[in-house]
Amino acid sequence: MRAALFGLLLVPVLACQSPKAAPQAAPNLPQAPLATAATPAWALAHPEYHAHADCIFCRIVADQSPSRKVYEDERVLAFWDIAPRAKYHLLVIPKQHVRSLKELEELPAETRAALLTACVKVAREFGLEEGGFRVIVNSGKDANQSVFHLHFHVVGGEKLPEDAVRVKDKSDSGS
Ligand code: 5GP
Ligand code: ZN
Repeated sequence: MRAALFGLLLVPVLACQSPKAAPQAAPNLPQAPLATAATPAWALAHPEYHAHADCIFCRIVADQSPSRKVYEDERVLAFWDIAPRAKYHLLVIPKQHVRSLKELEELPAETRAALLTACVKVAREFGLEEGGFRVIVNSGKDANQSVFHLHFHVVGGEKLPEDAVRVKDKSDSGS
């Protein structure tokens, strides 16, 4: 009787420990999926797209945070930066969450191509082609990346600072 009781207690414990019962999450896989009744159909079909509940851009992709969208297709989304630093300041992002340019290879080749194509499309849509525009990707802490969902800044519509690359302190030193 005691042995039978012990067996009954042990079975669920072992079940919890089996690899099937506790799959290991890959670093970039969902912690807490955002899927809700409001999640669009395409997002439900691609759970990896709305993987990160704590990522503001994933929430925008899943229509769970507001944004001023300017372009969207199956793979990418473009919307106004919340704090524009130029007359036109749009952000182009992959719908699939990757943290930065360092993780670019996690995206399918089609999405990588779609990102740059979307940057040009958005610039064209706002009439920036003739005057010119700048595409910037901050990657990691030295570049002051602040949102860790890959994004391309598309800026233009006015004369931009001459040098987007120069490190201010070094140029100030006169060397
Ligand atoms: P980073 O500094 O990572 O290169 O750029 C992040 C950009 O995202 C910033 O320009 C910032 O203004 C923008 N941003 C941050 N939070 C939001 C948001 O909730 N909505 C929109 N549209 N832009 C955001
Ligand atoms: Zn994200």
